Amino acid sequence: MFETSNINLKKAALKNNLSFIQNLIGEDCKMSSVVKGNAYGHGIEEYVVMAEECGVNHFSVYSTDEAQRVFNVKNTNTSIMIMGSVDDDGLAWAIDNDIEVWVFDEERLNKALQLAENLRKKAKLHIEIETGMYRTGFENGEIKNVIQTLQGNLEHHTLVGICTHFASAESISNYYRIKEQIKRFKRVLKQFEKATLHPVYRHACCSAALLRFPEMRMDMVRVGILQYGFWPSTETFIDYTQKNKTMDEPLHRIISWKSHVMSVKHVKTGEYIGYGTSYLAQSDTKIGIVPVGYGHGFARSLSNQGRALINGIRVAVIGTVNMNSLAVDLSEVESVKKEIA
Ligand SMILES: *Cc1c(COP(=O)(O)O)cnc(C)c1O
Repeated sequence: MFETSNINLKKAALKNNLSFIQNLIGEDCKMSSVVKGNAYGHGIEEYVVMAEECGVNHFSVYSTDEAQRVFNVKNTNTSIMIMGSVDDDGLAWAIDNDIEVWVFDEERLNKALQLAENLRKKAKLHIEIETGMYRTGFENGEIKNVIQTLQGNLEHHTLVGICTHFASAESISNYYRIKEQIKRFKRVLKQFEKATLHPVYRHACCSAALLRFPEMRMDMVRVGILQYGFWPSTETFIDYTQKNKTMDEPLHRIISWKSHVMSVKHVKTGEYIGYGTSYLAQSDTKIGIVPVGYGHGFARSLSNQGRALINGIRVAVIGTVNMNSLAVDLSEVESVKKEIA
């Protein structure tokens, strides 16, 4: 009630984006909603609850603490997948709670199988393959061993996935590199097939990849940025509009951030506005002070760069963003109501 600003998530926008994605990927492909990084800033708890209401039942995070936050609010039948960092305690917790984990080295694979045995649970594993991003994943030379280890421990694991991650599928300059990654991934999938190790999901695509490389959608796509209503890059948007012969924007932004103008001032030509000398009034300028700053997450790098909507008019952030406030240029806005929260 006493907040200086608040963040709203629009469910209708999320529904729109999810059905756009669903139409692309079809019935036979599962969508995992990527909610790492506090759901790309949307608020992990709020977002997960809303996405579940829209039919999402699989979420991807990067670390155990993020998984815990999803776990605390999710429905019983919703799955969580950890794609990155898990320590030993986290791994035990994950296995005990049926949380899916990516494994990308033999140490972790053995640890997971050992914990599963101790806990008398099956570890839900996704085997990550290194195909050319060089972040995490089993290398070519390790695959044989991994297959043997998995075959020798069938009672201690469920092979939920075999996966890889592309390095910048949103950029055409990476086309050759991605093509190479695709070849390597397919080769490894064949090795698993030959060994009759069949995963529930073969998955490789993030948002950009599912747009650019439809044949790689396979059984599951891991969708982050697109579900929030943003294109991975201008290139991917142009590619989409050309292929579909439309300039209509099919995605809607989910997040909006509202505040108010707490003070209005008239500044004379030649005066500096805010800290330092980063903004010099070039003419008599009407400014407004908004009680939102970098302390609330409005990036300091948006000093003299950011934009805000005041009465529906797009105005410039001027001067440096302060910890608790920022200034906007109101010269184009006729009547501004000052509000004190
Ligand atoms: C972040 C991430 C994604 C989602 O990427 P978007 O481009 O936001 O769709 C998918 N897979 C992995 C491994 C990731 O780290």
